[in-house]
Amino acid sequence: MTTCRKNRYGVGIVAVGVTLLSLLTSCIPLNDGRDTLAAAIAIPLDGVARNMVGNLASLGVIESDSTLQISAGGTNVRRVLLLRADAERESTGVMVGGAMAGMTSVYQTVRTGEHFLFVEYNAGTTVPGQTADVSVSLLNDSIERPSRQIVRVVFEDGFLTDPGLLDPVDGTAADRAFLDSIESTVRDEVLASLRNLFDQTPIDIVETDASVAGPVSTLTFSPKRVLADQNDINDAALPPADPNRPQCQVRVVFGEVLPSGTGLDPGNRNPQDDAVVYVGSFQGRGETCRTSAVTSLRSMVLTLSQTGAHEIGHLVGLHHIEQVGIMNRSATLAFQRELSFARGQIQVDRAAGNNIRSEVFPAIVQEPSTYLESIFATESSD
Ligand SMILES: [Zn+2]
Repeated sequence: MTTCRKNRYGVGIVAVGVTLLSLLTSCIPLNDGRDTLAAAIAIPLDGVARNMVGNLASLGVIESDSTLQISAGGTNVRRVLLLRADAERESTGVMVGGAMAGMTSVYQTVRTGEHFLFVEYNAGTTVPGQTADVSVSLLNDSIERPSRQIVRVVFEDGFLTDPGLLDPVDGTAADRAFLDSIESTVRDEVLASLRNLFDQTPIDIVETDASVAGPVSTLTFSPKRVLADQNDINDAALPPADPNRPQCQVRVVFGEVLPSGTGLDPGNRNPQDDAVVYVGSFQGRGETCRTSAVTSLRSMVLTLSQTGAHEIGHLVGLHHIEQVGIMNRSATLAFQRELSFARGQIQVDRAAGNNIRSEVFPAIVQEPSTYLESIFATESSD
């Protein structure tokens, strides 16, 4: 439970200076933590700035095709998500949009239902007593959502060999020649696999030299192997713990949204952002530290395409989920089996010393198809 220090609502607060704002704004006491959608306290849609305690607030039932304007900020606020009550399961909210903290963002609701605001805090969202400055209003004007997101896929020279998947300990000239010989096949199959994964979505996968009109995001397959520093939380992972092979316990970054540390783009607010897959991070290193990413052409294609799809997911605002699926943070899953963009409970990661601490919110669900339907205009809706 959190306590509320101030309890005064005020009209005309927006006009008051920032210093005074915190003294005058109302305090909306919310239970911080889990399963609290039903207990979320309402924020009126009146454009008045308020100080919200905790991470969840209800915006009430909002009709479809309404335009919401949301500002959310504060020193500890990282992102804000818009949720809609889940049609399938009571007391669950499905992510239908988002924005980085400090932005004033507009959202167009796609379906009628109770909507919620979910605030992610830098220090961890379940830390009690954190607050955000929020204001929400309903606008009369409707907005036009983008209809598509184009993603250009770039394979850098030598992405399989420099060092790429070439084993720096055991790799031979013959191994290099073999990787060279399959390079164009891998490239074609990764592209085909990405197109297949994003088929039936508003995301278009295009080749490096395709000419396109409008904003384009870029996914690059880089040959680099990138070691994670201890504060790296983005798609860095340790191989499964193995006390017999301590020399293999090296944390590497498999991919990330650029610039490093961006994490993801909530609400796909930037339609021309970039992400990278570090192919070299999947390499095996000698007899002891082999990796199954390179055991077969199929494994290579699975590894690279599913890791690429994961990064594209972040580019359009998908979070990690706890469930098995493309947005699971464990990169080793990517080369073990075919994954899909599964529905799952969102997981928020942050650095905690040498570890990555993940918070999972059982009440907050990411359903990629619902999310994409909410942030893009579907062809039939016009
Ligand atoms: Zn990730």
